[in-house]
Amino acid sequence: MEKAADLDYLRDYNDALVVAIARRSGVFDRATIAAGTGLTPQAVSKVVARLLAAGLVEPDGVRRTGVGKPTTVYRLIPTSRYAIGAHVARRTLRLVLTDLVGEVLRTIVTPLPEDFTPQHLLDALAEGVTTLADGCRAGRLVGVGIGMVGPLDHAEGVVRDAHRLRHWHDVPLRDLATERLGMPVLLDKDVTAGVTAEAWRRGTTFRDAVLIMVESGIGSGLWLGGSAYRGAHTNAGEFGHMVVQLDGPRCVCGRRGCLEIVHDQARARGDVDAAARVLAVGVVNLLQAIDVDHVVLAGADLLPHADAYLGAALAAVRAEVPRVDWLTTEVTTSSLGTDVIAAGAAMEVLNEEYGPLTSPRTAAHA
Ligand SMILES: [Zn+2]
Repeated sequence: MEKAADLDYLRDYNDALVVAIARRSGVFDRATIAAGTGLTPQAVSKVVARLLAAGLVEPDGVRRTGVGKPTTVYRLIPTSRYAIGAHVARRTLRLVLTDLVGEVLRTIVTPLPEDFTPQHLLDALAEGVTTLADGCRAGRLVGVGIGMVGPLDHAEGVVRDAHRLRHWHDVPLRDLATERLGMPVLLDKDVTAGVTAEAWRRGTTFRDAVLIMVESGIGSGLWLGGSAYRGAHTNAGEFGHMVVQLDGPRCVCGRRGCLEIVHDQARARGDVDAAARVLAVGVVNLLQAIDVDHVVLAGADLLPHADAYLGAALAAVRAEVPRVDWLTTEVTTSSLGTDVIAAGAAMEVLNEEYGPLTSPRTAAHA
């Protein structure tokens, strides 16, 4: 019995590895897969046969190299599987439908009542998922990923305390949504989903990065050493609650002078430039602590003023990081705009089912 489970695991693992490679390379042949995974040609043939049977790949012609036999070339079928991603913000629920390669096909935005309850969210989620699932053929929808404001526990699927939402204390949202929707659900911090989306789009050079989101609060998603970094309690990245002013105003978290409250007060005064400079100080603090080479700025409260925030962050990085000739950091805005969190949550579902973005080079052998 245990042996059968092991074999299932190895089979799924190797299939996922091949899907991950195919997703990156577009078309592939058996030799590319063998070279990329270390699997034997026989094992690769078995994987490809399974993926063909599952409808995930299809032949895409033949390639002739030298005098040998022509080689069949395959391609991943993007519309063979779909995932839905949800971005739960304080006033809105944004849902996207993505295909197997993470392209956003449809977006729905629903307002949420002020200070919404878990029941409000589940109702809105069920309605939106039904609408998006309508266009998908049976069996092709893999699951739903939810990116939500924290603090929350990704491993347990529990929202611990969503800042500024009264009804969200120890809510087992993942299990509640799984039961309501009748399909696999994954829960992660909004910012971690966001940085996952950027990593999907930017490829293997995106290894050490941070996504900073300004949207009813300030948070950061960390991507370190080629994968999402969540920390000991899956609560890493509470960037907005780093203190930047010791005797500053009282923050929603209870401390004084947090970056978030100092930033928000500047925005409330209408001083976007001052707010951008506060955020820029935080960016430099973060660079000093974790040495990333990509900073991605995102969030509905930031993107309309992207030039001011980008300018301030770039100026601060140049002025305050010693040796900019050596410590190079690229600062950009999100490549997916306001869909980035929802899209990333969908990509996390696809990662779970069809292999990590950063696949290990070596396959598992029985
Ligand atoms: Zn705070």
